[in-house]
Amino acid sequence: MSDVALLAADKLTKRFGGLAAVNEVSVKLYRDHLHAVIGPNGAGKSTLTNLLSGDLQPTSGQILFGGKETAGNTPESISRLGLGRSYQKTNIFLPFTVWDNVRLAAQSRERHAPWNPLRWLQSAASMTAVNQRCERAIELAGLTHRAQTVAATISHGEQRQLEIAMTLATEPTVLLLDEPLAGMGQAEAERMVELLLKLKKDHAMMLVEHDMDAVFALADQLTVMVNGQVIASGTPAQVRADPQVQAAYLGD
Ligand code: ADP
Ligand code: MG
Repeated sequence: MSDVALLAADKLTKRFGGLAAVNEVSVKLYRDHLHAVIGPNGAGKSTLTNLLSGDLQPTSGQILFGGKETAGNTPESISRLGLGRSYQKTNIFLPFTVWDNVRLAAQSRERHAPWNPLRWLQSAASMTAVNQRCERAIELAGLTHRAQTVAATISHGEQRQLEIAMTLATEPTVLLLDEPLAGMGQAEAERMVELLLKLKKDHAMMLVEHDMDAVFALADQLTVMVNGQVIASGTPAQVRADPQVQAAYLGD
């Protein structure tokens, strides 16, 4: 872990009318480091993810991505800086193949250059680069054997792997994953944990997850949110030992 945070959010707040869904939350994400965020439903975990990715604008607070302020930027421009995210609800286009889903996701990162005579050559070269990115992403996610399969017909676990491949296709440095293990059986969950361990190398990761076995297997740092607020943050061992956390959330 390097000591410079790739992404640093400071005192982020998001209000929906009278509700502070995220209330003065600060997080830092480092390369080769996984920061897990846990908390009961409605704690504000997805809202926090949406603030970091630019899908929602904060009411107040600061977000620095690679030292640049990004609060108020569009999701597209934040994605181009190197932020990749998955959604709690699936983003997959089911009638398309695995390959085409990843290809579409990869393309979202491409800039549309103004017209010039070399455009055809440039676009041919950039197509090759995009295709290579897609191949790498699909391979990393363990879906090479499914590349030409229609997304609707692969298993639930494979669909979640596909979401990861779609995220990886933009070659992010920071990955935000919202409940990638949701609805998985044990074998699928174990495979996903293996994949996330692999991704921890070379990425700064924030993982929102309910599966405590996965969280404790993966997390370097753990933040617990309840009602929009951070009630504890530290190493998994520190958080597990916190009496307030046990009372409010872990329940043991
Ligand atoms: P979590 O992901 O931890 O389950 P969310 O971030 O989805 O929690 O939600 C936090 C709170 O904010 C909830 O009370 C939810 O109802 C509310 N909320 C989330 N999104 C919106 C929205 N777009 N408009 C109004 N309230 C919202
Ligand atoms: Mg959520």
